Amino acid sequence: MTTPMVKTRFAPSPTGYLHVGGARTALFNYLFARRAGGQFVLRIEDTDQVRSTAESAAGILADMQWLGLNWDEGPAPGAAKNQYFQSMRLELYNQFIDELVRQGRAYEAYETPAELAAMRQQAEREKRPFRYRRDMPGRAQSRIGSGPAVLRFEMPRKDIVISDLVLGQVIVGADEHDDIIIRKSDGFPTYHFAVVIDDHDMGITHVLRAQEHLMNTPKHLALYDAFNWTPPEHGHLPLVFNMDGTKMSKREKARTARAAVQAATPKGQKPDLETLAANTGVAPDALAAFMAKKNDDAQIAVTVAAFMRTPLPEIDVQDFRRSGYLADALLNFVALVGWSPGGNQEILARPEMIDKFLVEGIGKTNGRFDRKKLLWMNGQYVRDQSLEALLAALESFLQVTDYPLARADGPTRLALLEMYRERTGTLAEMAENSRFFFEEPTIDPRAFEKFVINNDGAQLLQTSRKILEPVTPWNVQTLREPVEQILALGEKRGAAAQPIRVAVSGGSVTPPVLEMLALLGRETTLRRIDQTLANVKAT
Ligand code: GLU
Repeated sequence: MTTPMVKTRFAPSPTGYLHVGGARTALFNYLFARRAGGQFVLRIEDTDQVRSTAESAAGILADMQWLGLNWDEGPAPGAAKNQYFQSMRLELYNQFIDELVRQGRAYEAYETPAELAAMRQQAEREKRPFRYRRDMPGRAQSRIGSGPAVLRFEMPRKDIVISDLVLGQVIVGADEHDDIIIRKSDGFPTYHFAVVIDDHDMGITHVLRAQEHLMNTPKHLALYDAFNWTPPEHGHLPLVFNMDGTKMSKREKARTARAAVQAATPKGQKPDLETLAANTGVAPDALAAFMAKKNDDAQIAVTVAAFMRTPLPEIDVQDFRRSGYLADALLNFVALVGWSPGGNQEILARPEMIDKFLVEGIGKTNGRFDRKKLLWMNGQYVRDQSLEALLAALESFLQVTDYPLARADGPTRLALLEMYRERTGTLAEMAENSRFFFEEPTIDPRAFEKFVINNDGAQLLQTSRKILEPVTPWNVQTLREPVEQILALGEKRGAAAQPIRVAVSGGSVTPPVLEMLALLGRETTLRRIDQTLANVKAT
C-alpha cells in the first residue's frame, strides 16, 4: 500500500477578519504540506448563516494572498463561491446525514435553547454534569409544544483516545460525551459534522488547528468511526497570548479606544460624548453603548481611536499590514510563536522555514506574542530585502493606507526607501517620517528653540543658504561639495546640519542631509530655509 500524499487545510469561518493566530494556523498547515511536497487546501466554513459574511470571506482571501500562503485548492478570489465554501455543499452533507439516520445513529431532538439552558441549570444545582443523551430521562419525545427539530448524533458510550501529533495521547472518558447536534433547525449542518465530511471528502491527511478545538476532536473521531473512515491525524497548536498572559482578542481595540477617551477627560468629570459623537460621526446612542462597554464594536473603536490619535494594538492580519509590517517578517515572527526550528536562529526565510518545519518542533505550552521582537524582526527584513521586494511591499502597504507618500512616483519611492531602510522599523514609520517631502512640515517648537534660536543656529542657516543658493542643477552630485562645506561650518562638524533639518523637516531627526536635500529640490529647500529665517526674526 502506498501512503497517501500529504494534504493539509486551513478552514476559517468567515465571521470577521483573519486574526493573527489564525494566520499562524494557516502557516503551519502550509509549511507542513510544502515540506512534504503535499497539497494545501483553503476551505471557507460558512455554515453559520447568521454570522458568516461575504465581506469577511473576501477579506480572509485577501489576507492569505498578502501573506503569500498560496493554496493549491480552494476558493478563487473575486469569483463566485465554489465547492470550497461549505454553504455550497449541503447536498453532500445531507447524503451522509441520511446515512446516519438509516443506521439509527442520528435522531431528532426538540428542546428549545431555553429548555436546554434550564436543563443545564438544573444539573448545575444538583452538582452533576449535564450531558445530552438519547436515553436521558425527561428528553422531549415529540415535536408537540417544542421547537423545530435538530438532528443529534448518538455518541458511543466508550472512552475515546486522541493520538495528538503535538500533545500525545489524550483520553476522553465515556461519560464526557454529549450527543452532538449535527444538523441545526435551519437545515444547515453544524461545524462538527461538515468538518468531518469535508476533511474526508477532500482527502485531508493532517489537521493542525488551535488547541481550543482539542475537545471537539473526540466528536469528530466518533463520526469517522460511524462512517468507517480513517480519520486524518490531528495536532493541536498552543494558543497565542499577549506578553501579560491575556488573550490576544479583538476586544483590546475597544478597550484601548475607551481608555484614550477616559485619559483625555479631566479628573472627576464624565467624557463629553455629545462632542465626541459630533466629531467622529458615530451615532450618539451607539457611542454611548460602546463607552458603557455594552459592545466592543471594532469600527467604533477604530473611528474613536483615529480621532483621539491613539494607535490601536494590531490583532488582525490587516492591522499588521496597515502598520507597515512586511508579510514575510510577520510570518517569520508568528512561526516562532509556538514553534522552534531548533537552535537559536530567529530569521528564517520561507524556504528555510519549509525545510525545517517538523511537528516535533511545535511546543505544548502557550506562545507569547512579543511585539518588540516583531518590530525588531521587521526592521531586519526592511534592511535585508532586495529593493525591488521592498518596493513591492511598499506598494501593497500604500494600497491599504492613506499617506502622502502614495503620491510619490517610482523613483521617489525608491530614493526614500534607500534613505530610510536603515532607520525604520515599519513602513508606516517611514511613511509618517517622510511626510515633509510631500507637505509643509509643522515646526517642532523645542527643536526650533534648541537648534535655530540657540547655538548660532540662525547664523549657520544663513550661511548654509548662501552656499546652497547657486547650486544648479540640483542633485546628489552637484550638492555633494556644498553639503560638505556646510557640514564643516561651526565648531563641531555637522553643527549646521541641525538647523537645516529643522527648517526643511520640522524636527531634528531626518535621513542624511545630502540625499534629503537632493530629493526635496532646490525650490522647496530654499523656501523652507527662508521661512525659518523669517520666523527667527519674528520671535
Ligand atoms: N472553522 C473552524 C474555525 O475557524 C475550523 C476549525 C478546524 O480547523 O477544524 O475555528
